Amino acid sequence: MNHTVLERFLRYVTYDTQSDPLSPTQPSTEKQKILGALLAQELQELGATDAHLDEFGYMYATIPATVTKPIPVLCFCSHMDTAPDCSGFNVKPIVHRNYQGQDLVLPDDPSVVIRLADFPDLADEIGHDIVTASGTTLLGADNKSGVAAIMDAAAHLLAHPEIPHGAIRILFTPDEEIGRGVNKVDMKKLGADFGYTLDGEKRGSVEDETFSADGAVIKIQGVSAHPGMAEGKMESAIKIAAELVARLPKTNLSPESTEGKEGFIHPTGIQGSVESAEVHFIIRDFSDEKLLAHAAFLQHHLEAVLQDFPNSTATLEIHEQYRNMKKVLDQHPQVLAHALTAIEQAGITPIQSSIRGGTDGSRLSFMGLPCPNIFTGEHSFHAKTEWASVYEMEKAAEIVVHLAQIWAE
Ligand SMILES: [Zn+2]
Repeated sequence: MNHTVLERFLRYVTYDTQSDPLSPTQPSTEKQKILGALLAQELQELGATDAHLDEFGYMYATIPATVTKPIPVLCFCSHMDTAPDCSGFNVKPIVHRNYQGQDLVLPDDPSVVIRLADFPDLADEIGHDIVTASGTTLLGADNKSGVAAIMDAAAHLLAHPEIPHGAIRILFTPDEEIGRGVNKVDMKKLGADFGYTLDGEKRGSVEDETFSADGAVIKIQGVSAHPGMAEGKMESAIKIAAELVARLPKTNLSPESTEGKEGFIHPTGIQGSVESAEVHFIIRDFSDEKLLAHAAFLQHHLEAVLQDFPNSTATLEIHEQYRNMKKVLDQHPQVLAHALTAIEQAGITPIQSSIRGGTDGSRLSFMGLPCPNIFTGEHSFHAKTEWASVYEMEKAAEIVVHLAQIWAE
């Protein structure tokens, strides 16, 4: 395969596509549309049909089928925005050729150093080329490495109509980093049967499992009184909220004390007065049953704390955020199986793994598009130390081409 992925990547990262969680608009920032329009234009020039950017900032395009037999329509998806946590303005990518394990000191801020000891995945990159930012911004490999890999694969497939495959839909989304990546996807227009997001880190990884996630709010009604005459009367909602948080488990059920398949209850916000207070939580686990058990635990925990405050009341509200996509993917085992085969065909050892978080794919899976996540060479995201592997980006593009063919067989 004659790769264009590096050239594309170096261009796409120079577009500032940072999303903004405080913006009420869709997309959250207009500048994301500039990259979206460029990608639509490039796909048109490559011969994709109906490549266009819609009013909400989604880029859709089709690589037409090259065979006539009925084959499921595949979708390949990446997000165009970058994280609000770190500047994405004026990104200056640097290609480090033939990396040998040395410290990479970034020139625009020499205090930013990318060290092998801090990023063990760099050990796979000895002898390969890697890309970093220059020290003052993130790189944007999350997820422009995926965008570039899909574009590279599209260019190859469109230039080689002798490769047998069904119709392929390309979807580039805005606002993934602020949790709105699939809010306005038109699933009917997309018209795909199975999908793959390219937004994974570890070489060879395909992630078919995410957290199941709920949000929770505890609203406390205390008893206020004049502080000078409060003896035996006052029950401060602030103190109840503080007790509630202080008495949470610390050696388990916390983000800072769990890993792997363990879940947690995590307070994310607290506000209040003597009269009333609110504590916000996120609850996470891989199994829906355990998620329910954590919610029940929080309810008991709340009742136990309230025993010390007999005249106060509180309510616990739970709202669903997203669910482990494995439930959906297990009903369509060929989606994962074909990904594992495609990774092997690209000469990489596949690693089936889970994400302690969500992806666009976890929501797409429950919207009717089973959608695991494949690695694409992005590492150390949302930071000035972000780096991208050219080798892995090329392999990701090859995996897309292999997948197109495997589904046609
Ligand atoms: Zn991402």
